[in-house]
Amino acid sequence: MFNRRKFLKASALSTALLAVNKNSFANDIQKSTSIKNQPIVISTWDFGVAANADAWKVLSKNGRALDAVEQGVWVPEADETNQTVGYGGLPDRDGRVTLDACIMDELGNCGAVLALEHIKHPISVARKVMEKTPHVMLAGDGALQFALEQGFKKENLLTPASEKAWKEWLKEAKYNPVMNIENKLYDKAAPQRLPGNQYNHDTIGMIALDAQGNLSGACTTSGMAYKLHGRIGDSPIIGAGLYIDNEIGGATSTGVGEEVVRNVGSFLVVELMRQGYSPEDACKEAVMRIIRKKPETAKNIQVGFLALNKKGEYGAYAIQKGFSYAVCDTKKQDLVIKGKSYY
Ligand code: ASP
Repeated sequence: MFNRRKFLKASALSTALLAVNKNSFANDIQKSTSIKNQPIVISTWDFGVAANADAWKVLSKNGRALDAVEQGVWVPEADETNQTVGYGGLPDRDGRVTLDACIMDELGNCGAVLALEHIKHPISVARKVMEKTPHVMLAGDGALQFALEQGFKKENLLTPASEKAWKEWLKEAKYNPVMNIENKLYDKAAPQRLPGNQYNHDTIGMIALDAQGNLSGACTTSGMAYKLHGRIGDSPIIGAGLYIDNEIGGATSTGVGEEVVRNVGSFLVVELMRQGYSPEDACKEAVMRIIRKKPETAKNIQVGFLALNKKGEYGAYAIQKGFSYAVCDTKKQDLVIKGKSYY
């Protein structure tokens, strides 16, 4: 039988509960808004500091993470003293500078260019692939043709310094690319990078979280110096060199791309974070997969992973010592952190 008193009591209670719920919902929103209002950008290697600074110009004005990562990686792409990314990158064994890049946004959209020649900013061509075509990847001549159609300028990317280094290499011309191991290349007294031509490979991978709480990433490289013409590494491969999942976080990699591709490294790192791993632990597990599968190979190569989760927590892990990464947020603009490593 209908009992008015009970009904009134019950509805008063449910109104009160609703008020509590509303409040806690409001609190949650407030909490998550304050989390979301803390933009951050991280990127591989100490040359990431200058790249982060340009990304920060976008993030600090409440700009989109996608714009931040594109503009951030323009810095090493345009820097001719950086011989592992963009303009001035070391060529393949035939003397051709072929660039790899990819970009991914908060909606899971992505674009990539593989073995692109003559264009200084492959990351921007990758973004055009993402935004203007129904495809994800364009390679070689097709990528160049598309870039020219989009108004990019055709340039010679082989600088005198890189040509000289290549000609030196030609004297012995060992077709097996030599892998650099950064700890041997660092000047121990003054631990900054030595001149560019001492590095056979390295990549800028960048992940940003913007004030709206959205993640995006970019990855760009000239790949392995003196590689076989047409060789593609991990850097332009979504899931290997870069992966973003706006629910969870993002990851990127640097080092010998073949091993990263074999383990779908960046996707793995993001999936491990989904399972509750911290960014550093996720990077470590991805490194351990490489080491467990090929312990002898792993001894002589470098691979490093870098990750950022949705809460703005970050971490990295590498096979060898010497991997560094740069962090920029509201507290610190030029932080360089030495990543932990297995060896
Ligand atoms: N991952 C790049 C590649 O394999 C090189 C590097 O980052 O060291 O092309």
